[in-house]
Amino acid sequence: MTETPSVREIRINPIIPTESVLVATARNMRPKKAEQPVARDRRPHVGTCPFCYGNEHMTPPAIATYPEQEQWHIRIVENLYPVLGDDHRYRNLNLGLQQTIDGYGRHEVIIDHSQHGIAVHEMSNEHLVELFSAYRIRMEQLYQSNEQLRYVLVFKNFGPAAGASIPHTHSQIIGMPVVPHNVRAEVDHSRLYYTKNHHCIFCSLIDEALTFEATIYDRDSGAIQRRISVGQYVVERGERFIAIKPFASRYEWEVHILPLTHDAEFLRVTPADLADLAQVLRRTMARLEAVIEGAQYNYFLHSLPHSPDSRGCEASYHWHLEICPRTSIPSGFELGSGLFVNTISPEEAALKLRSVDLDQHPAPGKAAQSA
Ligand SMILES: [Zn+2]
Ligand SMILES: [Zn+2]
Ligand SMILES: [Zn+2]
Repeated sequence: MTETPSVREIRINPIIPTESVLVATARNMRPKKAEQPVARDRRPHVGTCPFCYGNEHMTPPAIATYPEQEQWHIRIVENLYPVLGDDHRYRNLNLGLQQTIDGYGRHEVIIDHSQHGIAVHEMSNEHLVELFSAYRIRMEQLYQSNEQLRYVLVFKNFGPAAGASIPHTHSQIIGMPVVPHNVRAEVDHSRLYYTKNHHCIFCSLIDEALTFEATIYDRDSGAIQRRISVGQYVVERGERFIAIKPFASRYEWEVHILPLTHDAEFLRVTPADLADLAQVLRRTMARLEAVIEGAQYNYFLHSLPHSPDSRGCEASYHWHLEICPRTSIPSGFELGSGLFVNTISPEEAALKLRSVDLDQHPAPGKAAQSA
């Protein structure tokens, strides 16, 4: 096998050009401390866990369960320690340069699965369809419940390094009175791109990942400097969804999943979309698990906000799921400069993920059940 040349370059995020990452892959460079891997709690049931079967009384009453019976698969409850709440009247304050917006909102927990220690790649496709459709329904209900909510964020923390405080697999949903800064930046920059190019930048990135091929030669020696080939960034492809390793990834193993057909809002996904999304997500997570054993990660949905200034962005914005495995601890350099350091080249990471033989690393259905 040929040694991949080391990379040291600053890459501009194509969607948010004001953001960039430093890709520095030299072996002797250790700019960051690796996150300690932790053994995963694989127990199916834990007597003291508030999210396990039989302990329903340990959580606030269910807002919804799927299906609506005692043997639930998915259960939505209010968060006991909400970061935003709707228990008081809104009051915004302006004092000179100090401005506050009242912390009004909703914060709920989605218990992803009745099995305590199950990982996403071990869940069945049917279950993942049910989970993402629970996300969709609750998101829609929250938007309809109060027009003060500008953004409903669905996210998942898995593993202590990703901030999960309860080990039982769960997601969270937060209705916020403001649009998160990173979503705002994506919406604004993709709108600018659309105005200039009459094309959605996310669709352009997908097209490029699927069709682009180029070789860059060194001007003096004529040696090949870089080869950009078809599918270099593609990790997984379904009929309706694609998983891509972003060229300017902030995290070593970051992967984004996007619908192949343009749509700004996750709220419009159909059951057929969800069936394909489930497959692409499960396979992507199985690849991540095979490469970084015991993956700890955050994933979150980015969809068009419900704020007045997001109107008219239907054609320019494109919803997606960002998966950010946490394998290293951010350094003072990263916090101080805002420049993320990525120690594995995204091209190499994509190749590694793509090369995983999923038959050797089987996920659910077949192997997990027979084990
Ligand atoms: Zn549990
Ligand atoms: Zn698009
Ligand atoms: Zn995003």
